[in-house]
Amino acid sequence: MAAPNIETIVSLAKRRGFVFPSSDIYGGLGSAWDYGPLGVELCNNVKQGWWRWMVHERDDMEGLDSSIILNRQVWKYSGHEETFSDPLVDCRECKTRLRADKLEYSGAASIEEAIQGKQVKCPNCDSTDLTAPRPFNLMFRTTIGAAAEEDDPTALAYLRPETAQGIFINFHNVLTTMRRKVPFGIAQIGKSFRNEVTPGNFIFRTREFEQMEMEYFVRPGEDEPVHQEWIDYCHNWFLTLGINADNLRLYEQPKEELAHYAKRTVDIHYRFFPEREEEERQWDELMGIANRTDFDLKAHSKKPEDAEGKRLNPDSTEDLSYFDEATKERFYPYVIEPAAGVNRTVLAVLMDAYTEKTNDKGEKRVILKLHPQLAPIKAAILPLAKNKPEIVGMAKAIKRSLQPTLRAVYDDTGGIGKLYARQDEIGTPFCVTVDHQSLEDEAVTVRDRDTWEQERVKVSDLQLHLQSRLVTKL
Ligand code: ATP
Repeated sequence: MAAPNIETIVSLAKRRGFVFPSSDIYGGLGSAWDYGPLGVELCNNVKQGWWRWMVHERDDMEGLDSSIILNRQVWKYSGHEETFSDPLVDCRECKTRLRADKLEYSGAASIEEAIQGKQVKCPNCDSTDLTAPRPFNLMFRTTIGAAAEEDDPTALAYLRPETAQGIFINFHNVLTTMRRKVPFGIAQIGKSFRNEVTPGNFIFRTREFEQMEMEYFVRPGEDEPVHQEWIDYCHNWFLTLGINADNLRLYEQPKEELAHYAKRTVDIHYRFFPEREEEERQWDELMGIANRTDFDLKAHSKKPEDAEGKRLNPDSTEDLSYFDEATKERFYPYVIEPAAGVNRTVLAVLMDAYTEKTNDKGEKRVILKLHPQLAPIKAAILPLAKNKPEIVGMAKAIKRSLQPTLRAVYDDTGGIGKLYARQDEIGTPFCVTVDHQSLEDEAVTVRDRDTWEQERVKVSDLQLHLQSRLVTKL
C-alpha cells in the first residue's frame, strides 16, 4: 500500500516532526518548509545513500561541492539568463499568477490562441480574462558587495538554479588533479533555487530545494548507449530503496519539452497524485536523465571560434576540450546528466512507505515501512517499567552502547503499546524492550516493525544482530 494522497503525508510529517511549514509563527512563507528532527535524518540518509551508490561504489566517479553563487558570466554562457524561464500568465480577475504550460485547453493550436479566444479558464476563479503569456526568469537575483546598489548590473548575481554548472566550470580541475580519463563522472549534492511561478504540493515544488546531480563525460558517439545505461541504473536505484515498481515509470520527453541543451531526456516519474481520477495526471517527475551533449563545455570554452576566427566566448580564459592521449584526438565530451531532487525523493519514499494495519483490538495503526537504510531511527530502546531504576539504567546503557554504530533512541514517555505505535509511525525498524527478566538473563526483546514479531536476543549479541538485520531487511 502507499499513502492515498500527499495530504496524508503532510499531516504525518507535521505531527511526527519530519517537516514543518516554515516561518509559521509569522503566517508562513508560501511553499517553504523546514525539516524537523526526523526529516533532517531522513534527508541525510537519502543523500548518504545516493553518495555511496553514485560515488563510493563506482570506480569512475569523483565528488564536488561548488559555490551556490557563481560569476554571473556562468549563467550568461550556460543560456540561463536568456532562456531559464517559464511562460507566465496573470488572471486579470483574481490576480492569480499561472504557468501557461500547465493550463488546460482544447481546440486551439497554441496556448496564446486559446487565451485570446477565451478558451482557457483560470483554475482559481474560472475567469477567461487572462493576459498573454510572457517569459518569467526563474533565477533568484542578489547583489554582491557592501556598496552594491539594487540595480547595479556589475554587482548582479544569481543563486544557482541547478548545481550542474558548478561541475562544468570545474571539469578541468577535477580531470587534471584526479588524473582522470573520459569516460568519468563528477557528482554533487546541494541547494538550488528557482523562483517558481506556481510552487506547491508540499515539498514537491518549492523555491529552495536540494539536488543530487551527476555529470558523466563521454566521447561523442558513445553518448546514446551510456545515456540508456544511466536511465536503467537510476530507475533501479529507486527500486533498491524499496519503492514499489508500480509507482514508478519512465517518461520520454517529447522534442518540444526538451531543455535548450538537451538531445534526449527521460524522466523517472513517481505516482505522486494517486487520488486523481485520470491515470495520466497521477504522475510527476522525480528525476530527469538528460543527454546535454557538448553544449555546456563548449559554451564555457574560450573556443570554439566562428568562421572568421572570432572567439565565441570572449569572457572565458579556458578551453574545456579534452585530449585523448590514446587516439591523439581533441574533442568536447558529451555529458549525460542524472538529476534527482532530495526533497522529491523524500516525498516519494514517505508516500510509498505509508501503510495502515489493524491490530488485535481492531485499532488502525500507521506503519512507515521505510527502507532500514533510510529510517531516521534504527532502534528504539524501551524500558518496560520506567519506575524501576535497574531497568531504566540497563536500557540507557544499551542505547549508549549502540549509538556509535547506529542511530538509537531511548524512550520511556508512555506505555509499551503507545511507544511501539509511535516508533512504527516514524519507521523505526526495531524496538528493543528491556524487562524484568533482562536483569536476570542479560537478554532483551527485539520487535520487528513490519511483522510485529518478537525475539529474544542476548545483550552481548544485540549490536551485531541489529546491524545484520538492518543490512538484510528488504
Ligand atoms: P519540473 O518540470 O517539475 O519543474 P524540472 O524538469 O525543471 O522539474 P530539473 O531541472 O530536471 O527539473 O531538475 C532535476 C530534479 O530537481 C527534478 O527531477 C526534481 O526532483 C528536482 N526539482 C526541480 N525543481 C524543483 C523544485 N522547484 N522543487 C523541488 N524539487 C525540484
